[in-house]
Amino acid sequence: MADFIVLVKQVPDVKQITDNAFDPETGTLIRTRLPSVINELDTHALAFANYMKQVSGDRQGKIIVLTMGPPMAEDVLRYCLGRCADIAVLLTDKALGGADTFATANPLAFAVRKIVKQILNSAGDYYIVTGMQSLDGDTAQVPAQIAEELSIPCIAYVTDAEFKNDRFEFTRIISGGNQLVAAKSAPAVVTVAKYEYPIFASFAQARRANALKIIQWSGDDINAQHIGVAGSKTRVIRVFPPGKSKRSCQQIYDVKNLARTLAQSLKADSQQHRKDKQAADSYVLPKKRKIFYDRSFEATDSENEDFKILADKLKQLGIQRIEQIDEYTKKQILDTAGEHFHKNALEDMLTGLKSTDSSYVGEVWVVAEHHDGKIHPATFELIGKARRLTDSLETNLGVCLPGDNVLSMADDLIAAGADSIYVIADKLLAAFDPAVFRKAVADCIKKYQPQIVLFAATPQARLLAPMVSYRLHCGLTADCTGLDIRDSSRKGQIGILLQTRPALGGNVMATICTKDSKSQMATARPGVMKRLTPDPSRRGKIIEHRLDLSADDISLEIIKTELGTGRVDFAADIIVSGGKGMQNRDNYERLVGSLCETLAEKLKAKIERGASRAAVERGFIDRIHQVGQTGTSVGPKIYIALGISGAIQHMIGVANSKTIIAVNSDPDAPIFKNCDYYFVGNVEDIIPKLVRNL
Ligand SMILES: Cc1cc2nc3c(=O)[nH]c(=O)nc-3n(C[C@H](O)[C@H](O)[C@H](O)COP(=O)(O)OP(=O)(O)OC[C@H]3O[C@@H](n4cnc5c(N)ncnc54)[C@H](O)[C@@H]3O)c2cc1C
Repeated sequence: MADFIVLVKQVPDVKQITDNAFDPETGTLIRTRLPSVINELDTHALAFANYMKQVSGDRQGKIIVLTMGPPMAEDVLRYCLGRCADIAVLLTDKALGGADTFATANPLAFAVRKIVKQILNSAGDYYIVTGMQSLDGDTAQVPAQIAEELSIPCIAYVTDAEFKNDRFEFTRIISGGNQLVAAKSAPAVVTVAKYEYPIFASFAQARRANALKIIQWSGDDINAQHIGVAGSKTRVIRVFPPGKSKRSCQQIYDVKNLARTLAQSLKADSQQHRKDKQAADSYVLPKKRKIFYDRSFEATDSENEDFKILADKLKQLGIQRIEQIDEYTKKQILDTAGEHFHKNALEDMLTGLKSTDSSYVGEVWVVAEHHDGKIHPATFELIGKARRLTDSLETNLGVCLPGDNVLSMADDLIAAGADSIYVIADKLLAAFDPAVFRKAVADCIKKYQPQIVLFAATPQARLLAPMVSYRLHCGLTADCTGLDIRDSSRKGQIGILLQTRPALGGNVMATICTKDSKSQMATARPGVMKRLTPDPSRRGKIIEHRLDLSADDISLEIIKTELGTGRVDFAADIIVSGGKGMQNRDNYERLVGSLCETLAEKLKAKIERGASRAAVERGFIDRIHQVGQTGTSVGPKIYIALGISGAIQHMIGVANSKTIIAVNSDPDAPIFKNCDYYFVGNVEDIIPKLVRNL
């Protein structure tokens, strides 16, 4: 008999953002001004757990919902009790507040242990079912870290389940397709990427939900080891509004103009669109700076401003060494600083000036991902970024390469910018099993202790990285779009990695740094960093890392893998992609087909067809044409998106396109905020007209 522990979370409702939800001075979101709702993917998880219970044919299994949050988080538990949950547990305690994912996963795992012992009478046949990620954090780290704490399998990105031969078989999303897997044994964590059959509350259930008593536990009740701010491995340095899209987001109103724009965009010089953001990255270690008080690489603008006032004054007073600063000098500095900083802050800054050694030592590492003997493009992008970080820190760039028969890929990694390749070769690493990979990668990191470890934020690494970081007790920031080396001199932190990422569904940006960890770890969004031009003349070192892996380490049975087949040339000048908005295969064929033919004939350009995952799943075209996070990342001169909403997983794959043109019938389609030109209209109406106008 299987039981189900469903993890749910209360999040701010970002769909209801009004202007007064933003602080007029800082532009950041005031969370308390937004209503709270249950995280949408957790409603999928709840319905999915109910579905698992039904397909197992076992009516005795319990559904227990667990949340960690303030007392008002009780609302989301009542939501679940009003649908299908039998028992609800609220973990609430001020001491648990302000936690990052490490200090969230830890108490949740301890609460699961207590549920299993006290409510499930230590039965081992249970599944922890969660939404893939929460809307506020968007990290997808907590479920994998709970699995790590409990030493149980984690099956991520699940979309379906069947009950066969007395066990569950799960369909999950992987790069380039789908996979059918089963956990080697229960219990297991299952994270749900999508399950579109919601459960609705009935009047009778809602009454029952309101009458049921919710079990309430505090931090002391569960005896967790790492909780709250103190137990966290990361610290938010600043929160700020996201910059406007670098794309012009210009609406086009008539089809003739759309045709003209298309033709002109093909000729436009790509350089005018976007500058390489990475060019600005020029951190210099304090020891290498010409003057001892040059602290122009601080983590926040206000720290930079304060150090500039200090530096200007020291320069004016002709002070060359820190020992020359006496009480009289301090008074003069404070007089100059005015409102900016007071005595204690000045003392901190002066202490900070004495620290010149990097807070972390060791190499900068990238953990490589590969499929079918080819390195994932995102690994090369990360090496490009890591090269700059490595040069700033004056260390070596290492790449960790786990797999079977992987040595042949080492040259490409060295040509891309790596200095050393740490090869972990083992037959058990031939296919991606999170438990085996995390053991191998964590073992290698533990031995060589790099100061920075970067993973691409692919579905595979978004599962691997949280497990590795949790195992090594290191902080991890998910899905970064910016990585910089900076100082927080006042805190004595020199040469630390600032990790910037979008949060709250992209409504705010947060800059985060690691604390209490040996390595600073981050996953970085594909398509954002730039790869370097390969240099085949580069030479590097190969280091073979060996460890004992055995069949006992395997956590999953891979039953079937479905990957796209066929040929596609995404190096084309123009890619015309169709989404779910094409409605059916015939429309896709007719509309995308006719536009491709006309563009090829009239603009004399190389054209290829693309599609969103939703279009592929509906059979409009073969999977090999899928563009996006789990498809292919493309960078054509023009990307035309027809009937595609602009989900982040799709847009990640088109970020390097020079011009993006979108046609969508919904005037509020998210893609319109992330394209160069858009046209509001029905594709069935617009495309034939566009073809005529071309
Ligand atoms: C782990 C993971 C990985 C993923 N990887 C990918 C990936 O690689 N690639 C990818 O694409 N997705 C991926 N997804 C799925 C992604 O989240 C979205 O679900 C998907 O991109 C949506 O596809 P869509 O825009 O075609 O469909 P929808 O989001 O349903 O949008 C359809 C759009 O068509 C418009 N429309 C409807 N009718 C018309 C009409 N007649 N004319 C014009 N417009 C019309 C609608 O207004 C809507 O905006 C992934 C999801 C997960 C969880």
